Amino acid sequence: MAGMDTTRRTVLGGAAAGFAILSTRASAQPSASAIGDGTVALTDPRTKYTSEPFPEQRQPWPALASKMNPRPDHGERSYKGSGRLAGRKALLTGGDSGIGRAAAIAFAREGADVAINYYPSEEPDAREVVDLIRQAGRKAVAIPGDLQSREFCEGLPGQAARQLGGLDLLVNNAAYQQSKEHIFDVSDEQFDRTFKTNIYAPFRISKAAIPLMKPGSVIINTISVNSYEPEVELLDYASTKGALLIFTKALAKQVVKQGIRVNAVAPGPIWTPLQVAGGQLPGKMGEFGQDTPLGRAGQPVELAPLFVLMGSDESSFTTGGVVGANGGEGSP
Ligand code: NAD
Ligand code: MG
Repeated sequence: MAGMDTTRRTVLGGAAAGFAILSTRASAQPSASAIGDGTVALTDPRTKYTSEPFPEQRQPWPALASKMNPRPDHGERSYKGSGRLAGRKALLTGGDSGIGRAAAIAFAREGADVAINYYPSEEPDAREVVDLIRQAGRKAVAIPGDLQSREFCEGLPGQAARQLGGLDLLVNNAAYQQSKEHIFDVSDEQFDRTFKTNIYAPFRISKAAIPLMKPGSVIINTISVNSYEPEVELLDYASTKGALLIFTKALAKQVVKQGIRVNAVAPGPIWTPLQVAGGQLPGKMGEFGQDTPLGRAGQPVELAPLFVLMGSDESSFTTGGVVGANGGEGSP
C-alpha cells in the first residue's frame, strides 16, 4: 500500500514474516503501488521480493503454501484486475497453490469464473483460493481429484464446464517434481508418476476439453526453464517439461483450425510448495533461486500477468508460443 515503509526484504525474509501475506498488514503489498497522483512507483526487480536464502524446510508431499516459511506471495493483496478476462470460464489444475493460485486469483480479478483442481489433501490451500475468487465477485468451483487417474482427467473438463456454464480457458499447471541426484536414484514408480502427472494429464485433459471449447478459447500449459536447460537432478521432471513444450507447439498447429490457441508459460525458480515437498535436494533450500541473474527466486504473483496475457484476446496472434519469467536466464 502507498505510504507503507516496510520493505519486501523485511516482509518476506523474516521467520514470522510469511504469515503477513494473508494477515491484515497492508505492508505485505509489493512496493509497486499507486503514489497518490495516479502514477505507479518504480520498483527495482532485484529487491522487489526477498533475496535472503530460504530457510531449510520440508513438508510431506504435496505441501501446503500456508505452512511455508516465508509464505509465497500469490498476489492475494496486490493483484489488480482491469476486466481483461471478463466473462471467461476458466479451469486450472494445481489451482490451490503456487503459480496456479496466482493465476486463479488474477483470472478472477480480471472477471473470469474459475474452477480449480487440486489433490484432495490440499483442501486447506484450496479453501483460501475459493474464498479469494468469491471475494472478487466471481463464481468459484472446487474439484479435488487425482490427476494420475485417466478417468478423473477425462471427466474434469466436463465437470468444470457443467458447473461454470462453459469452458474457454484451460490451464494445465499441475506437476510432480522430486529431485534425485542420479538416474540410479529414480525409481520406476517415480518416473511413471512424473509422466502421468506432467504429460499424460495435460494430454487427457486437453483432449476432453477441446470439444467443449468455442473459437477464441485458450489452453495454457505451464512448462519450465527445464524444458530448455535441464537441472542435473531433475532427469524425469525435465523430460516431461521438454515433452510438454513440444506438445504445446504441436497441439497449437492442430486446433488453430478450430480457432483455439495453445501457449505455454515457462517459469524459472519460483518459491512454491513443490520446492519444499521434495522438489529440491535436502540441504539445498538456501541456494534456491540465488544463482539467477536477478539474484533471487521469483514469487508466484510475478507469473500471474503472463497467464492473463496468454489467456486474453489481446494476444490473439500468439499460438504455439512461450513466454518466460526466469530472473534472467533459461529463456525460451
Ligand atoms: P505447487 O506445488 O504450488 O503446484 C503444483 C500443483 O500440482 C499442486 O498444488 C497440486 O495441486 C498439483 N498436483 C500434483 N500432482 C497432482 C495429482 N496427482 N493430482 C492432482 N493435483 C496434483 O507448485 P508450483 O511450482 O506452483 O507448480 C505449478 C507449475 O509450475 C508446475 O507445472 C511446475 O512444474 C511449474 N514450474 C514451477 C517452477 C518453480 O520453481 N516452482 C519452475 C518451473 C515450472
Ligand atoms: Mg498445492
